[in-house]
Order: sequence, then structure tokens, then C-alpha cells
Amino acid sequence: MPGGAGIDLRKTLFGLACLALVAGCTTIVPAEGPEARHGDEAAAPAARPGYAADGTLQPWVETSHGEIRRVSGAEGCVALTFDDGPHPTLTPRLLNLLAEENVHATFFLVGQRAQEWPDVVRAISAGGHEIGNHSWNHANLTQLENSAITRQLAMTDAAIFAIIGREPDIVRLPYDAGSPRVLSLIDRPVIFWDIDTLDWKAGSVGEIVDSAVRRAWSGSIVLMHDIHANTVSAVRGVIDGLRARGFEFVTVSELLSGRPCRVSTVVAAAGP
Ligand SMILES: [Zn+2]
Repeated sequence: MPGGAGIDLRKTLFGLACLALVAGCTTIVPAEGPEARHGDEAAAPAARPGYAADGTLQPWVETSHGEIRRVSGAEGCVALTFDDGPHPTLTPRLLNLLAEENVHATFFLVGQRAQEWPDVVRAISAGGHEIGNHSWNHANLTQLENSAITRQLAMTDAAIFAIIGREPDIVRLPYDAGSPRVLSLIDRPVIFWDIDTLDWKAGSVGEIVDSAVRRAWSGSIVLMHDIHANTVSAVRGVIDGLRARGFEFVTVSELLSGRPCRVSTVVAAAGP
């Protein structure tokens, strides 16, 4: 458990997240370095969730080659994430459910779909949820040229900005498909996950609930998709089950802040 000074530092870092600059996959480049691409931000100290001002990874973020999969300092917290939307009917249904449960989640939106369903994007934002960038048309970015990768993300940023007046602070790669080259082009935290519910494989409601509830631990990032009816049907069970284990729900950026939720109440999952 980190001390108070560490928490203050993380709050500061988190507050600076929107000013965040470059970082690659295996090499993290400080903002003042030659790789900085945002000239107007060059004078500001660089920090982003999970990274110190000098660009080094912080120890409370568990990573593999710069991939953020779980946040180890976020005791008692879990982040529910929903990919591939918005969906015109399922996402609103999910939003109603999350509002009833007073849970904030993170939605990684496909830009093309966001542009098609702007009212749903507004509802996600109005509900206090976080919105991330999940590419323009769910392309496998590893198969694209650099300029096309940048365009996929920029078009999605622009579409979301046009709807809610804010660009996403975080990115998720379609198909879990990343590479050092792709990651080096992205100037924001790239969020993976440690708990894949496999809901996209047409898992049953019970299977989705079980995989999320049984395998989650503090700092987990749970992957689901709000374009499948079974997923939406499973979310209440996921929330109930994780609450029964003592977890609280935060957005991904809240998770990356490293602030603990309730520390002492998390209980081990039953079974393997
Ligand atoms: Zn996806």
C-alpha cells in the first residue's frame, strides 16, 4: 500500500494526463525529447496516467512492453470496459442498467459508429462514463501504414469531439492487435485488459458473469462488448458478483490514477 505522498504524486500525474505526450511500446520518450509531436505542449511537464514526468513507467501499473493490462495499486477497484459500440439499442439499455446500479464504466467507441449514433455517445458521456478511442472502423492497425493508423485514430477523435466536445484520453486496439510500431504512434495510454469475458464468442450469460466475477482482482480491467445482447444481460450479475467480493467500479482513467477503493473488503474468488 503506497504512502500519502505517493497518492498525491499520482493525483498530480493524473491531473496532467490531458497534457500527456509521447510514449512508445518498449521505449518511453519524455515530452521534451525530440519525439514530442505536440509543439504547444512542449513546455509543460509530461505525464500521463501510469507514467512519471520523465516518461518512466510507474510501478503500480502492470504492463508488458508498455501495454496497460491491470493497475496494481488500485486496491478494491475494478474497471468494466465495453468495446465496439455504440449500439443503437443495446448501449442505451446498458446505460440504464449502469445508472440504476450507480456504476461508471468505460466505452471504447468505434468512430464510424459514434458518428452514426451521436445521441448514444452523448448519453454515454452524460452518464458519467469514460469514452475511449477504438479506431475508426475496427481495423487491425498492425496491417496499416503509419499514416493510416494515425488517420484511424484522428478521425475517431474528431467524430467524438464533434459530439461531446472532448477527445478520448485513452485508446484500445481492435483485436488486441498491437506492435511496437503501432504503439509508438499513439500518444496516449493504450488500454488492454486482464479479464477477457469472451462474450464475443456468444458465451452464455452465466459464463460471462462467471468469468468476470471469479477471475477479477484489484485493479482488473474487464473486457466486454456492448453490441451483444447476452453481454448486456450479464452485466447486472457481473456487478452483483463483484460487489459481493467487495469491489467498487471505476473508469479506466480513475483506475490509472492509482487511488485505492475499499482496501480491506475484497475477498478471494471461489474456485480456480
Ligand atoms: Zn473491438
